[in-house]
Amino acid sequence: MAKVYFLIGGNLGDRELVLKRTTYALAKYVGKIVKESAVYETEPWGFNHDKSFLNQVVVVETKLLPENVLQKTQDIEKSLGRVRKKNRYSERIIDIDILFYDKVIVNTERLEIPHPRMGERLFVLAPLAELAPEMIHPANGNSILEMKDRCPDTSDVCVFKE
Ligand code: ADP
Ligand code: MG
Repeated sequence: MAKVYFLIGGNLGDRELVLKRTTYALAKYVGKIVKESAVYETEPWGFNHDKSFLNQVVVVETKLLPENVLQKTQDIEKSLGRVRKKNRYSERIIDIDILFYDKVIVNTERLEIPHPRMGERLFVLAPLAELAPEMIHPANGNSILEMKDRCPDTSDVCVFKE
């Protein structure tokens, strides 16, 4: 069994319901949910949009290989109504990113693990640090807490309350 860390989130529709549906689908198609962070509210990152994001880190135990995990998460995104836009940073109903797959490093055209941009993104590092502050990033050797403390991102990320 491998332990996979996902960042899930979006800024369109009923954002809390979409997170619940995503977690449910991950449990059904990828594996058992072993940990969930709080839900964080984040201002749009890298583009302007009037609706903020809700994000959450979810940890799943899976028998699937990394490529198959990506396939499942893309199927789930599609089933929840995600429409892919050309620009990388855009509004979306749901994005499911694979942050870590055990200590495995993957570098293919379709898949990069650990997720290459997590170090610049407080909306990833804040929920991740809540669950696994001491975990060591297998490529750069830093702990999640160190990465969070060094993260240059100054955007507003806070625990979501209705
Ligand atoms: P982003 O998540 O960067 O906003 P997308 O969700 O549209 O953008 O993903 C674009 C592509 O990123 C996907 O088609 C997928 O093949 C690729 N990708 C590479 N590494 C990962 C990863 N660790 N998790 C999720 N997708 C990844
Ligand atoms: Mg994505």
